[in-house]
Amino acid sequence: MKKKKIVIIGAGVSGLLCGKRLTEAGYSVLLIDKGRNVGGRLSTRRTDGAIFHHGASSLPDFYKHKDLPKFGLGMLKRAENEKIIQRKGDLFEPVSSVSDLVSFFASGLKIQEGCEATHLNLQSRTIDVSLRNNNHKEIPYDFLIVSIPPNQAKSLINNQINRFENYLSEVEMRSSATALFSFDLNPAHIKETFFSNERVQIQVENNRFKCEQKLLCLTVHTKEPFAREVVNNDKRKIREILFGELSSIFPVLLPKPTYEAGHRWLYGFTERPLGQPYLFYKKQNVGFCGDWCLGGTILNAVSSGVRLAEQILKE
Ligand SMILES: Cc1cc2nc3c(=O)[nH]c(=O)nc-3n(C[C@H](O)[C@H](O)[C@H](O)COP(=O)(O)OP(=O)(O)OC[C@H]3O[C@@H](n4cnc5c(N)ncnc54)[C@H](O)[C@@H]3O)c2cc1C
Repeated sequence: MKKKKIVIIGAGVSGLLCGKRLTEAGYSVLLIDKGRNVGGRLSTRRTDGAIFHHGASSLPDFYKHKDLPKFGLGMLKRAENEKIIQRKGDLFEPVSSVSDLVSFFASGLKIQEGCEATHLNLQSRTIDVSLRNNNHKEIPYDFLIVSIPPNQAKSLINNQINRFENYLSEVEMRSSATALFSFDLNPAHIKETFFSNERVQIQVENNRFKCEQKLLCLTVHTKEPFAREVVNNDKRKIREILFGELSSIFPVLLPKPTYEAGHRWLYGFTERPLGQPYLFYKKQNVGFCGDWCLGGTILNAVSSGVRLAEQILKE
C-alpha cells in the first residue's frame, strides 16, 4: 500500500490525526475539506479586533483517557510540551487559540481547503469535488477515508456499500446554535470567564485565552433542550434570540455590537455513538472515522482517526 494514494475527506481532528499517522508512516496522503479553514468543529473566527472560539475549546484530561492510542497520546503530550495546550483543572485548554492546536495537528500534511466531496464512485475509485470558485474536478484514490459526520457520510456513500445505512442507524447526532458578539467596551472591566442560565452559556473570550483583543468578545452557546428550539431558525434569528439571552444575564448594559454572527452546528454533538472505533470495508478500500464512532469529544475523534490509520497500516 505504501506508494498508494490515500485521500481523506474531512480535515477535522479525526481526519487530521488519521492523516498525520499515515503521513508519518510514509504514505502519500491528501486531505480535502469543504471549509474555508481546516479543524471542523475546532473553530476560531477572527474579525477586525475580535477573536471567537465558536466550536470546541477544551479537551478532557487525555492522561486519564483509557483507550487513547499511543500515537494520539504522544501528539497531545507534544502539544502540552510545546505550550499549545495547558492543564486547567480536569481539562486541557489551548494557551492562545484553538487554531494553534489545529495548525499543530495539520503541520506537514497536504490539505486542500474549500474542496467539497459531492459524489463518490467506489467502483472507479474517484471522488467528484466542487471547489470554491465553482469549478469541479475528479480526484482518484487507491484508498479512501471518510472522516465526516455520519449523516453526511451516508449521503456520500449513497447505497454503494451493502447495509452501510444499517450500521449507522443507531448513531444519533444533535445540533446546537452559537452566536458571536463583539462590543466596543474595555474587556478589562469584566473579570468573569463564564456566565450562564439554564438556556445558554456565555464565554468571555478575552478571559479564556491569551489573545490580543481590544474589543469585548462574547460567544453564546445554547444548552439542551433550548438548543432544539433555536437551531431551526435562520442565522439572523439565532443571533437575535441569543442576543436577548445575553442581554438578560450580562452584568453590564451592552451597546450595539461591532460584530455579530449566528452559527448552527447541524451535527454538533454525538448523542449516541456507533460503539466501535471506526468502520473499515476492505473490499471497497474505504474506511470511516470521526468522533461519532466512540463518543463525541476531541479525544474520541483522535482515537477514531488514529485507530483507523493503524488498521490501514496492517493491510
Ligand atoms: C459548540 C461545540 C462545543 C464543543 N465543545 C467540546 C469541548 O469542549 N470538548 C470536546 O472534547 N469536544 C467538544 N465538542 C465536540 C468536538 O468539537 C468534536 O468531537 C470534534 O471536533 C469532532 O471532530 P471530527 O474530526 O470527528 O469531526 P468534524 O470536526 O466535524 O470534522 C469533519 C470535517 O469534515 C468536513 N466535511 C464535511 N463534509 C464534507 C465534504 N462533503 N467534503 C469535504 N469536507 C467535508 C467539515 O468541513 C469538517 O471540517 C464541541 C462541539 C461543538 C459543536
